[in-house]
Amino acid sequence: MRLGIISALAEEQQGVLEALQSPARRVHGMREYTTGTLWEIDAVCVLSRIGKVAAAMTATILVEKFGVTHIVFTGVAGSGDKDVHIGDIVVADSLVQHDIDASPLFPRFEVPLTGLTRFATDLALTERLAAAAARTTRVHRGLIASGDQFIGRRQQLVALKTALPDLLAVEMEGAAVAQVCVELGIPFAVIRTISDNANDDAAVDFLHFIETVASRYAYQVLENFCKA
Ligand code: SAH
Repeated sequence: MRLGIISALAEEQQGVLEALQSPARRVHGMREYTTGTLWEIDAVCVLSRIGKVAAAMTATILVEKFGVTHIVFTGVAGSGDKDVHIGDIVVADSLVQHDIDASPLFPRFEVPLTGLTRFATDLALTERLAAAAARTTRVHRGLIASGDQFIGRRQQLVALKTALPDLLAVEMEGAAVAQVCVELGIPFAVIRTISDNANDDAAVDFLHFIETVASRYAYQVLENFCKA
């Protein structure tokens, strides 16, 4: 296995990057890719920056230029369900691009010409991640929605939840990585720690969480994941 680890923001990956043994850095396409060994697993860490295009490009380069065989996205997200609380972890079983809508030509949420609305994650990777995360905090498994919007108004979330009732979390990159990985045949998984409730307090909660806990969680989960 050569594992690609993507996060959007530096705070989401900080500890993990420091744990990488024999790191070698290479800059490509305005991103820094660091290869090395993570608890005996051959790994490549990179920050995608924010949004679907940034994430899709990063995932593609990881596969095509750095030869990764598996991808894990680790980061934070807004809660998409009343039972999913700040500090909980959501591990995706599937992901949807909530802002894609080519109706009436294609059903809302379907990625045109793929026939797909929900992109399923790799079961083995997902189970291993969920087991690793369960040693740190409360874990939920299910649907994550991604789009090029920070969901920071209650009404935005209510509208999304009405269209996608089984939604557990909202973020801005996972479903883009999912599409790339499905199209390239690369097993992948997405894990998100809940930083905010995707409501009117989201921006403040998000900033506080990202400074205090995001990197610690990512580190603990990936250590347990790699050692499993
Ligand atoms: N103002 C912030 C913007 C961060 S965008 C900054 O300048 O750093 C939020 C990031 O965290 C994205 O990468 C997204 O995947 C995730 N995220 C956390 N909470 C979110 C929410 N409520 N809606 C959408 N994305 C969220």
